[in-house]
Amino acid sequence: MTEAARTDDRPAPTSAATPAVRLTAVTKEFGALRAVDGAELTIGEGEFFSLLGPSGSGKTTLLRLIAGFERPTSGRIELAGREVTALPPSRRDVHTVFQDYALFPHMTVEQNVAYALTVAGVRKPERLARARAALRTVRLDDHGPRRPDQLSGGQRQRVALARALIDDPGLLLLDEPLGALDLQLRQEMQRELQRIQRATGVTFLLVTHDQEEALTLSDRLAVLDRGRIVQTGSPLEIYDRPATAFVAGFIGTTN
Ligand code: ADP
Repeated sequence: MTEAARTDDRPAPTSAATPAVRLTAVTKEFGALRAVDGAELTIGEGEFFSLLGPSGSGKTTLLRLIAGFERPTSGRIELAGREVTALPPSRRDVHTVFQDYALFPHMTVEQNVAYALTVAGVRKPERLARARAALRTVRLDDHGPRRPDQLSGGQRQRVALARALIDDPGLLLLDEPLGALDLQLRQEMQRELQRIQRATGVTFLLVTHDQEEALTLSDRLAVLDRGRIVQTGSPLEIYDRPATAFVAGFIGTTN
């Protein structure tokens, strides 16, 4: 057991209820390349789940399939018990935070955060109240009137999180969200991610190539190797009993 792995005694989210995500035999081919190969995956509601693997192992493609930016070549995708395999992103109850978290530079922080509500036609007083609540969740209460260029990298990332959480999505997808940050900020933001996930109870699905990050933050994770999910389990299970030599090597153990 690595010291970094989760040791808190928070009860594991139950998976008896309808899962947040269920993938059945999901395959995605780009020409002759099989980027995702027969993925089977169930993520419980309220879980912090990670997809861990080296560059090119298919993590982002899997995330994009779940978000609806890509359609699978074959297989089935269900979110919260509803089949969404052929639905566009706008008809899935999902938001995505990308590494470059592009904020609108001409808008204030508050306007950036409230953007989805503006598009949805929510009236201004409610918009502002909800934007302020979302900014409180990410601990940027008094930064609403600022512009993105007046914030640090970590603060901008938190604005992106508040923006993604504003309309209470069922699922938040995070594609290497901390990849652009330096080590110290990265560690600080890892703690923030964990705190925000717990505070909101939203199901988080994080893509990362960083073993430490996945082991520290996740309730459970899946390890990918060349398009295949080679192991799924808790950080402890994967650290203690790697299913393949690849997992053992990637996680950094010798057993
Ligand atoms: P990861 O996120 O683990 O780095 P990706 O899902 O981005 O991996 O990529 C998996 C494989 O699929 C890689 O070989 C990549 O080059 C390929 N790939 C991803 N997207 C496309 C695409 N749109 N067209 C062709 N090949 C792609």
